[in-house]
Amino acid sequence: MSARYGCACFAVPKRLLKQLADDSHGEHRALLQAQIEHSSKLRGQRAMQSRDRPEPRLGRQLLHRQVFDAQGQTFLPGQLLRDEDDPPTSDKQADEAYENVGIALQFYKSVLGRDSVDGRGARVDASVHYGFRFANAMWTGRQMIVGDGDGRDFKGFSHSLGIIAHEFSHGICQHIVPGGLGAVTVPNQPPALKGEAGALNESFSDVFASMIKQWHAGHDVKRADWLLGEDVLAPHAGKALRSLEDPGNGKLTWRKDDQIKDYRRYKPTDDVHRAAGIPNHAFYLAAMAIGGKSWETLGAVWLKGFDRLRARATFLDAAHATVDVAATLHGKGSRPHEAVKSGWKTVNVLA
Ligand SMILES: [Zn+2]
Repeated sequence: MSARYGCACFAVPKRLLKQLADDSHGEHRALLQAQIEHSSKLRGQRAMQSRDRPEPRLGRQLLHRQVFDAQGQTFLPGQLLRDEDDPPTSDKQADEAYENVGIALQFYKSVLGRDSVDGRGARVDASVHYGFRFANAMWTGRQMIVGDGDGRDFKGFSHSLGIIAHEFSHGICQHIVPGGLGAVTVPNQPPALKGEAGALNESFSDVFASMIKQWHAGHDVKRADWLLGEDVLAPHAGKALRSLEDPGNGKLTWRKDDQIKDYRRYKPTDDVHRAAGIPNHAFYLAAMAIGGKSWETLGAVWLKGFDRLRARATFLDAAHATVDVAATLHGKGSRPHEAVKSGWKTVNVLA
């Protein structure tokens, strides 16, 4: 089975875009509404392209990035602006995307020994200036796209390590779970992430983006802010996209944030961003209970645990896998082993 599933994984939940569209008027409202429409069409379109285009690969270099300028259009990838080892360009967004993709690549390589998204040094492409004032970033299944933001509610995305690392991690997850963790294709509809497996896919990106931010800043679990997208929203729109410390706490994030952190509240119809709060919080609790640096104690546990999951995995499967790997790597009855178990228990996935 192919590792490619061409699923568009957006950084900004549709619910937030809808809330912001409802709060605005006139032209701005129309702009956001058009983007919500465009985003759902984009999924199917990308899926078609990803099937017949060859995988970019170059094995010799430690890192290989290419940043393109989509020039305000929606054709991908656009014009090549910066190749690996090229000097900085005069384009701020291109250089920010280049740097942040590099940090994500370095993290997986040096902390977890994984060479790029496919584990074999695949080149990572990113297109900046995608679309007109596009208020989102995403992983298309073969590359990253980064919008400039709408100029009002969103400040852009290329400067945000958390957002770039989140999208990059969708690329990792795509390759470790054959068929795509939670990717569902319904005839005549764009593929989408669904159910517990889809929420695990979103959570994988949140958890690793969080670790990458902490690793880059040298923050231990106590100093970490445990937020994602705290640097992309304008103050009136909210403070952050997500909190792993307290999923669904709108005071830490945005007004209508509906993430949940208790499996007893889960419904199979839940949006994957909403339900991702459950595994996100289990990870946060485990990391806090162990203390120190999250990536040192739990990075390999989470990557190897998710590496065991199948496309239709449940939260319980993820709990068993990560608990088991924690016991293997740190010892049965060790602090990490007990902490991972207890994290999944607190969110009511494990009994
Ligand atoms: Zn995502």
